[in-house]
Amino acid sequence: MTEQSAGSGGQDKPTIAIDGPAGSGKSTLSRALGQKLGIGRLDTGAMYRSVAWAVLDQGVDPSDVDAVADVARRIDISMGDLVTVDGTDVTEAIRQDPVNHAVSLVAANPGVRQVLVERQREWVVRHGGGVVEGRDICSVVLPDADLKIYLTASEEERARRRSDEGASSVARRDRLDSSRTVSPLAVAEGARVVDTTDRSVDELVEEIVTWL
Ligand code: C5P
Repeated sequence: MTEQSAGSGGQDKPTIAIDGPAGSGKSTLSRALGQKLGIGRLDTGAMYRSVAWAVLDQGVDPSDVDAVADVARRIDISMGDLVTVDGTDVTEAIRQDPVNHAVSLVAANPGVRQVLVERQREWVVRHGGGVVEGRDICSVVLPDADLKIYLTASEEERARRRSDEGASSVARRDRLDSSRTVSPLAVAEGARVVDTTDRSVDELVEEIVTWL
């Protein structure tokens, strides 16, 4: 993986792991925390989305386990203000319906997870810390993070936040992500559960930084 907007290296930055279902507030909170603490943020969902995009773009069957894992190994994903796959700007495309529909199947592929987990850990080492958000960050990617957080929000609120995608698509992804064999979405040991329903981002950030 290459980067366009990497922070500087160093070992003194905290490592914060954030998991939660779609619409729980991970992206908004991790961005705000990164800004507040002056550390980088990695959206691992965008990496799984990028693999799903490449699979569809290359005409590979998303259920072909070996071919999909092969795509994940071959492509270069660049995570910055823009997300690119082998130089193609996919920032918008990875948020569209075809990717929404394919991503959970692609993310349940053990070969894909192996490749991306390794790249995510490399990102943290290169940045000397950072905020990393996803589904398996507290449990698999960074079990020794300084802070592990599992975000929740009411079903109504999560559907409202992801109204662009549609409630049934969000519910389907959550069901697949929580029931898969490899690294299912779950509250990891040692993670603090935070309900973001009716909480402002500023208020949450102020509270969370006191836990560091
Ligand atoms: O975070 P976002 O909703 O964009 O993630 C898209 C999909 O990527 C999730 O529905 C899930 O299937 C997958 N994902 C994952 N593990 C992560 C991050 C995302 O399986 N750490």
